[in-house]
Amino acid sequence: MPFNILIIGGGLGGLATATSLSQAGHKVTVLESTSKLQTIGGGITIPSNSLRCWDYLGLFQRLHEAAEAKAPERRRFLRYTGEFVCDAGTREKLYKYQAIVVHRAPLQQLLVQAATEAGALIKTNTRIVDIDESGNSPVAITKDGQRIEADLIIGADGAKSTIRALLYPNVELKSEYNIYRAVIPGATFKADPELAPLLDCSTIWWGPHRVIVGIPVQNGKYYSLECCHPGNTGTAGEWNKKGDINLMKDTYSDFEPIVAKMMELVKPDDLLVWKLNSLPKLESWVFRSGKVVLLGDSAHAMLPFSGQGHAMAIEDSICLAECLSRASSTSDIPKALKMFETIRKPRTSLISAFGEGMAHTWQLPDGEEQRQRDNRYRKTPYFGTTGWDGKHVDVLPGVPPDPLFFPYMLAHDVVGFYWPPAKLERRTLGGLGLASIYRRRRTLGFSIDLMQESLHVVDNGSGGALATSLNFEGLATR
Ligand SMILES: Cc1cc2nc3c(=O)[nH]c(=O)nc-3n(C[C@H](O)[C@H](O)[C@H](O)COP(=O)(O)OP(=O)(O)OC[C@H]3O[C@@H](n4cnc5c(N)ncnc54)[C@H](O)[C@@H]3O)c2cc1C
Repeated sequence: MPFNILIIGGGLGGLATATSLSQAGHKVTVLESTSKLQTIGGGITIPSNSLRCWDYLGLFQRLHEAAEAKAPERRRFLRYTGEFVCDAGTREKLYKYQAIVVHRAPLQQLLVQAATEAGALIKTNTRIVDIDESGNSPVAITKDGQRIEADLIIGADGAKSTIRALLYPNVELKSEYNIYRAVIPGATFKADPELAPLLDCSTIWWGPHRVIVGIPVQNGKYYSLECCHPGNTGTAGEWNKKGDINLMKDTYSDFEPIVAKMMELVKPDDLLVWKLNSLPKLESWVFRSGKVVLLGDSAHAMLPFSGQGHAMAIEDSICLAECLSRASSTSDIPKALKMFETIRKPRTSLISAFGEGMAHTWQLPDGEEQRQRDNRYRKTPYFGTTGWDGKHVDVLPGVPPDPLFFPYMLAHDVVGFYWPPAKLERRTLGGLGLASIYRRRRTLGFSIDLMQESLHVVDNGSGGALATSLNFEGLATR
């Protein structure tokens, strides 16, 4: 049954959800607070599990056109001194899709087009400040007092979510790190024989309490430089705060000289400084009425070290559409949202915990622990995996060195994992790759088996325990 759905927030998560729900036939309106959709941001890695979702949305081809090229398969890990640690193929071929890197601006533009083509309405300049759940249907209340009723309201308003704060006024974002971000034109690298090779692969420099990630974007058109260190500058969700270029140079002055050379190419006006945030695991993403739900960063903001923040939001969008497709009336919506949360929470918690672990591992101070890390990576490079039979990982694994972790993270099929392919028949409309539809052998109401299946996954794993007990890579295992 088509529902009337409001999505609060026109970021990547909100727009992907608008696309998936509109494609499924729902009437969707996106309410975005900014006057126009912001095109700020740097390179976003789209890992294989996310690419599968873009494929489900029928946007795989267009995404590759926006990306202009595939990402380099190689990823080099160096110490801050320049000492080589290991080369790690990202192995996405193993996981069916090859990761790509796209600048956030074309990514967002593509989702705006796709959502609009699918029938969603996007309203900018509309800030939601409250939700009234007292009636049969939830009502979103705008800053200027307008009331907008819907069958379902989705809070996709990012890490610093207003909607989440209505449910959890005392939950605070954890913010321990700052990151300097700059996008440098690739042409300046190409002109310099020492810098040009950096356009061939991503490079990660591990330093004591700091890490630098350099990623070539769009076939070397840009080089995305991200320099992370402990800090408390700025506020969460402030995406356009200017960074101090001299402070950045000072902070990383003990890194190998090529780093200083790259920093010389950053124009002071182009340097941003962001606060990195992560959210503690929330008790529930579903509100009291059962008709308001959190999604994306508002539900599970995580550190970027897993490279999965955007991917988790896109997976949410596909999963929510699947869950809602089982609802035959508005009274089924609470069950659909519960199913969504049951499926998504363990996975997002585990991957968030992995990112926290990576933050620690990548920034170890010089010493024995750092030497052990380097030796471990030399033996088993990042993303390396053994002992995987190519089938879905159907219980939550531990984090690396559990060999099943990377298949679990990167080969995940957010539809096929829970709804076996036999039940789905996927077609591309008109062969144009513009949209996909799914024909299901629908059953009336909800499949108890399905709920049990997803609960079984939760019971077998315990992502929650992992999320809280995990301090660094390698400690927690199943
Ligand atoms: C401007 C910007 C630049 C970014 N750049 C990068 C990047 O370069 N690399 C990276 O890895 N990640 C970046 N991110 C984060 C990344 O997009 C998210 O982590 C991920 O895609 C999950 O998206 P989301 O939709 O849940 O949240 P977000 O992408 O944060 O989107 C939330 C949206 O909700 C809107 N909003 C907030 N409050 C309200 C309200 N009360 N009413 C209505 N609308 C509201 C915001 O304006 C925003 O558009 C960026 C996010 C933004 C907003």
